[in-house]
Amino acid sequence: MSIRVGNGFDVHRLVPGRDLILCGTPVPSEVGLLGHSDADVATHAIMDAILGAAGKGDIGKHFPDTDDAYKGANSIGLLVKTMEIAGDVTVVNIDATIVAQRPKLAPYIEDMRRNIADAVRVPVGRVNIKATTTEGLGFTGRGEGIACIATCMIEGRFEE
Ligand code: MG
Repeated sequence: MSIRVGNGFDVHRLVPGRDLILCGTPVPSEVGLLGHSDADVATHAIMDAILGAAGKGDIGKHFPDTDDAYKGANSIGLLVKTMEIAGDVTVVNIDATIVAQRPKLAPYIEDMRRNIADAVRVPVGRVNIKATTTEGLGFTGRGEGIACIATCMIEGRFEE
């Protein structure tokens, strides 16, 4: 057995008339994230971190946004599929930082952790979710979009 680490990064645009879903948790907001799936930017970054650690490419390869099968898709369901793609591995830990000027995410963090931990089948203590602003700077600061960066360590057997 060995361990591998991967990173993931994603951005989605905020628009009126869409739900805001972060790590599977609906967050009350006047604007939501635009995308082919449910546009859960945080779950997407975590999926890419897992695929990166497993050496299995990225989510665009496995879940192309040209495929109608993923239109409006629940990203937590895609995270479960990502674990199948990753193979015979166990998540050691996940750490993710959501970059959003608003809304305040603190009341939803524990629910987000639980959703991610359940999807990758680990105790919730292995999943850390953080939120930060960019002090009003850049596209996140202007509320034009939300970004997320994630790191994941996995344990298992890997192709050399
Ligand atoms: Mg995405």
